Amino acid sequence: MPDDPDTLQRRGLMFILSSPSGAGKTTIARRLLEHDGEIRMSVSVTTRPMRPGEVDGKDYIFVSQDTFDRMVEEEQFLEWAHVFGHSYGTPKAQVKAGLREGHDFLFDIDWQGTQQLYQKLETDVVRVFLLPPSIDELRRRLTGRGTDSADVIAGRMERARAEISHWDGYDYVVVNDDIDACFAKVEQILAAERMRRARQTGLIGFVRGLMKP
Ligand code: ADP
Ligand code: 5GP
Repeated sequence: MPDDPDTLQRRGLMFILSSPSGAGKTTIARRLLEHDGEIRMSVSVTTRPMRPGEVDGKDYIFVSQDTFDRMVEEEQFLEWAHVFGHSYGTPKAQVKAGLREGHDFLFDIDWQGTQQLYQKLETDVVRVFLLPPSIDELRRRLTGRGTDSADVIAGRMERARAEISHWDGYDYVVVNDDIDACFAKVEQILAAERMRRARQTGLIGFVRGLMKP
């Protein structure tokens, strides 16, 4: 039914989740991808080595530094940055076409990438920052995750304060204390942002129809 407001044409959005390492960004992102049928992950390109269990093309597109540099020269990235000694970038092609077709994309990128995306595509971007309930709990989560050595955890804790200092570059800041409560808030943000007038490109025609004498 073309005049049903729930099926009106809508422009997609770029939903950015950032957090200091260990605050729960991956956990929330996974839940969102499982529960929300519409949003898809923007798969980044990286030069960092693949970790056990990661799948090329799904978790990241893994490339050499030469390939990455060529992609930068050819302007294939919407944004890119050096993070923890490696290069990471968001390929342009999938996202730009997808937004026009009304698809939403989830981004797991750092604050530098968030700033770049916001500068380029401000109206399409929704920026969400997750905080841990305390520094002690952040340390507990990093230790409990069991993926990093004591050295790596110390490095992540060291950087956590610097990452937290970028909190005011985000539209929403959510404290991830209880995981279910945090996820519910993130889902609410996404639902409300989808309803923004500017994204509902089919509204003009719909409203004109309502106003016809
Ligand atoms: P990030 O992607 O931000 O580095 P993760 O999603 O990997 O963080 O979470 C770090 C660890 O903390 C994981 O072991 C995860 O299961 C756990 N975790 C995430 N959110 C919560 C929460 N609200 N309460 C308790 N543990 C959590
Ligand atoms: P990891 O190597 O642990 O998967 O990610 C390290 C950091 O790089 C995380 O903070 C993640 O958000 C960030 N990152 C991943 N992909 C991109 C990207 O395409 N662009 C930017 N700017 N950061 C990214």
